[in-house]
Amino acid sequence: MKKYIMAIDSGTTSNRCIIFNKKGEVVSASQKEFTQFFPQPGWVEQDADEIWSTQIGVCVEAINKANIKPEEIASIGITNQRETTVIWDKKTGRPIYNAIVWQCRRTSNYCDYLKNEGYTDIIKSKTGLLLDAYFSATKIKWILENVQGAREKAENGELLFGTIDTWLIYKLTGGKVHATDYTNASRTMLYNIKELKWDEDILNLLDIPKEMLPEVKDSSGYFGKSKSKFFGDEIDITGVAGDQQSALFGQLCLEQGDAKNTYGTGAFLLMNTGDKPIKSKKGLLSTIAWGIDGKITYALEGSIFVAGSSIQWLRDELRIIDSAEDSEYMATKVKDTHDCYVIPAFTGLGAPYWDQYARGTIVGISRGVNKYHIIRATLESIALLSCDVLQVMEEESNKKLRKLKVDGGASANNFLMQFQSDITNTEVIRPKLLETTAKGAAFLAGLSSKFWTLEEIKNLEKNSTIFIPNMNDDERSKKLNRWHRAVEYSKDWAKED
Ligand code: ADP
Repeated sequence: MKKYIMAIDSGTTSNRCIIFNKKGEVVSASQKEFTQFFPQPGWVEQDADEIWSTQIGVCVEAINKANIKPEEIASIGITNQRETTVIWDKKTGRPIYNAIVWQCRRTSNYCDYLKNEGYTDIIKSKTGLLLDAYFSATKIKWILENVQGAREKAENGELLFGTIDTWLIYKLTGGKVHATDYTNASRTMLYNIKELKWDEDILNLLDIPKEMLPEVKDSSGYFGKSKSKFFGDEIDITGVAGDQQSALFGQLCLEQGDAKNTYGTGAFLLMNTGDKPIKSKKGLLSTIAWGIDGKITYALEGSIFVAGSSIQWLRDELRIIDSAEDSEYMATKVKDTHDCYVIPAFTGLGAPYWDQYARGTIVGISRGVNKYHIIRATLESIALLSCDVLQVMEEESNKKLRKLKVDGGASANNFLMQFQSDITNTEVIRPKLLETTAKGAAFLAGLSSKFWTLEEIKNLEKNSTIFIPNMNDDERSKKLNRWHRAVEYSKDWAKED
């Protein structure tokens, strides 16, 4: 009798395993951090073998904690940090270099070179992505060019490439399966998201042999079986998706115009745009949301560099709050921000402004402004920046935002969520169980192993908190106008005089 789904959530800083029961409840969870390496400024690496060993460790721990038998697990779903690049030897299964992490900037100069050569538009129209070091493609090229003997081995078909999902599938299946899903493939900057194939032109441009690349499969479908030596029985792997797409699915943003925002250190917004990719003119990414039964759903993605970390700034640098949670109570001690705006452009501004020289700015300080106004304005800025991205998504997709599902640490803040609802004039829905990334992988896996039907999944989430917009149009447009004016003051600041 199958009673559980095992979700593997392999993140940027830690590996997690969550076991869900039929009601979608967490039966057990286990988590372990792994080492980050910073060999040079701007470089970030991880040890792929350590990722594997900690991941398998937490999976076994979660099974033991739940005190269940492996035969009771219907299937495994995998979700993972995206873009991070592993290359390993086909014969030995050993990585030939550390995993190069998505955050790593080592190939920035090469990306600038490609931009100068005029490849930006071609890359964008084929992959939906901006030409950037963030994605896997130039990381693969770097390894082939900088690890001794790698280029030759790759040409001889002796090396395999994978993002973390592919690496974990390969290890779980004892080296039998070399595969990824559409969502992860769409983040490599090598995958043509319209033609649904590895793009020969880009592979030629970067000199990457196609034989290294994994087979691309549906996000919800059969990938292979885990070896019985790991859990005591073979378990099917039946769902795979990159973390943000997994969260979109876990939040059940299944209709065109549904969107989710994850409020963590930064914020990640994704909107379901249906069966066609949208080429953004304002710096959003177009990406594959998931592939199910060979049918592709696309999404627009925008990120905000500073969200929850602005609250850490209030706590650790300004020291006007003791804890992130306090910001909610403090913000409600005043009725408004006293026309004061905080623009937390600590590292520049992302979509839709794209100004790397912008810096944090407080505008409109009059004699009456106190710390509560500043705290309130900082919280509001998170929602205002999200609102700016959502507006671009609406414009470019030509779809009205239907509702906004939220998750991530800062979504616990009720003031922030109510203001988000007010300023976007949309219902904001916060599920009780915030583990949406793992939930997405579980849903994708559970659907294809017939553990759940889609109808059942839709009925699992009952205890969401819903924030209803409660701001009149005049007030909203006044607030947005003032905000947009305030943002102008933050621009260009870090440019040399
Ligand atoms: P990440 O996954 O990026 O580490 P989390 O989802 O764990 O982030 O969220 C942590 C962030 O959320 C921190 O930046 C913290 O300041 C912020 N945060 C946590 N709780 C609250 C709260 N109640 N109000 C506002 N911000 C919060």
